[in-house]
Amino acid sequence: MSKKQFKTESKKLLDLMIHSIYTHREIFLRELISNASDAIDKRYYAAMQRGETGVDKSAFEIRLEPNKAARTLTITDNGCGMSAAELEQNLGTIAKSGTQAFRAEHADAEDVDIIGKFGVGFYAAFMVAKKVTVYSHREGEEPAVWESEGEDGYTVKPAGYEPVGTKIVLTLKDDGDEESYGEFLETYRLQSLVKKYSDYIRYPIRMQVERSRKKEGSDEYETVVEDQTLNSQVPLWRKNKSEITKEEYAQFYRDVFHDYEEPITTLHINAEGMLSYTALLFIPKHPPFDFNTKDFKRGLKLYANGVMIMEHCEELLPEYFNFVQGLVDSPDLSLNISREMLQHDRQLSAIANNLKKKILAELLRIQREERETYETFYKAFGRTLKFGVYDKFGANKDFLKDTLLFWSRREDKYVTLKEYVDAMPEAQKSIYYAAGDTLSQVKKLPQAERVADAGYDILCLTEDVDEFALRILESYQEKPFRSVSDPDLDLFTDEQKKELEKRAEEAKPLLERIKTALGDKVLDVRLTDRLKSTAACLTGDEGMSVEMFKVLRQMPNGASIPMAFHFELNPDHPVYAKLASLDDDKLKEYADLLLAQAKLVAGLPLNDPAAFAESMLKLM
Ligand code: ADP
Repeated sequence: MSKKQFKTESKKLLDLMIHSIYTHREIFLRELISNASDAIDKRYYAAMQRGETGVDKSAFEIRLEPNKAARTLTITDNGCGMSAAELEQNLGTIAKSGTQAFRAEHADAEDVDIIGKFGVGFYAAFMVAKKVTVYSHREGEEPAVWESEGEDGYTVKPAGYEPVGTKIVLTLKDDGDEESYGEFLETYRLQSLVKKYSDYIRYPIRMQVERSRKKEGSDEYETVVEDQTLNSQVPLWRKNKSEITKEEYAQFYRDVFHDYEEPITTLHINAEGMLSYTALLFIPKHPPFDFNTKDFKRGLKLYANGVMIMEHCEELLPEYFNFVQGLVDSPDLSLNISREMLQHDRQLSAIANNLKKKILAELLRIQREERETYETFYKAFGRTLKFGVYDKFGANKDFLKDTLLFWSRREDKYVTLKEYVDAMPEAQKSIYYAAGDTLSQVKKLPQAERVADAGYDILCLTEDVDEFALRILESYQEKPFRSVSDPDLDLFTDEQKKELEKRAEEAKPLLERIKTALGDKVLDVRLTDRLKSTAACLTGDEGMSVEMFKVLRQMPNGASIPMAFHFELNPDHPVYAKLASLDDDKLKEYADLLLAQAKLVAGLPLNDPAAFAESMLKLM
């Protein structure tokens, strides 16, 4: 039978595994046990969903079987098993979760030292085995066997494997001068590895162990073989907080939530009284690879007294905290609770309510005490928080507003809204912001110049959701948000405003001529005092800035939204002085050029770039 080849990506990872640093190799067992435990979860969970109440939980187990004569270590589980197609798909291509992220970030890394820290999945078997044979039987499918000796591919064939579940046979590599693989066949070594890495696995991990005991009624000893359960099966969150090390939390997080990095923070909450539950929450450092796809499943794992009843319970987390990973275990929940019941479960919503407050408090603590960490977090998930502010017509804006950070033009770093307001000079009444595609574009926005000159800081917005969030917020500590492109900047005295009105009145014939020249391309033509060194700019209409229009245009059906703006001219600019003296043809040419450059500065596309280039050259 010809061998199938691993996909290129898988091959790279495989290669990394085969040549991994010796000291890390022991983690292969943790990876395989963790997969076995997941598989049992799946089988149990599926049975529950089919409404089978009589599932015998005590029959589930993971078994280790060292065989020194054959130099094999066998790991068996009675979990869900895999069909031939699944063997092919799951083990032939690179695995989805942890491994993929690992590959994305580290496959090219020279330093294989990192392996020890990450969950790298099934391929870890190749760290210790020269041949891996996987017998598997999924209920209702034909049993099959997958086999591989590493880089040169694998085979999948039908096999006679009766029990439902999976049996993985590792044929260990030969011992070298400095490397011993035979140790993975020693009882004490396996016992201590399970204790070290897999103690909290909720299913018994069993092994036959030889023991010598006194013969009954005699002084002689005999050797007996008996089953030993190697793990304590106490889930981590049920242990005493003071007995859990930081490393144990991190390990648990990586194993259960398939991340390759430590979380930014861990919350272990024990609530007692009216509502008793334990929650173990983690805030990751970075989004999971599918975070922004529809495949991403938000929510917390839900346990009733240590038994998982739901993988992703959405009711426990508001959408704006959907980056939080973790679980809730409560003795008061019924095992057979259904999705529909969950939605109306008072207890659950009370738990959710408590959790979101704890999460908020923790985020604000990190923001206060570990600013750099918070910024890392914010770069990963700030967008989610801002959507949270905007979503549901701002229903959660007050709850979330202090989690936000924006880039300060003056400080050139992230600031909170409170920090911005605290630093405002007495005379400043509004919180100013400018929006654009990139930070450097926003900083150079002509509209921002006068505001900055007045000694006021400006929040630089570069994400599509930013301005929408601020508009929904309206104000912070009674200071309204104001775009530097707002019609009224609240920057000038009444006298200055009157003066501008007067000049606008005088300029009316000229402004009308320009409007005629530009036609529908602009809503109207006005004078502005917001500009300093630039001649013209575009501003939005009816509370909608140019940036917001750009965002809306990106949305489905958005292309039909008309892109027309107010065209504002700076009467103090030398170019403006020249306009009045031009004849109609020349005026049209100048007006077109001014409009084009205003569009470019605003990051808007030109209707006719070639015409722009031509008329610029002509003028030059
Ligand atoms: P991950 O567990 O991160 O998805 P792995 O490489 O460890 O990646 O495993 C790939 C897939 O193979 C798993 O997602 C699972 O579907 C399947 N699998 C691995 N081991 C078992 C097992 N013992 N029983 C059933 N399925 C398994």
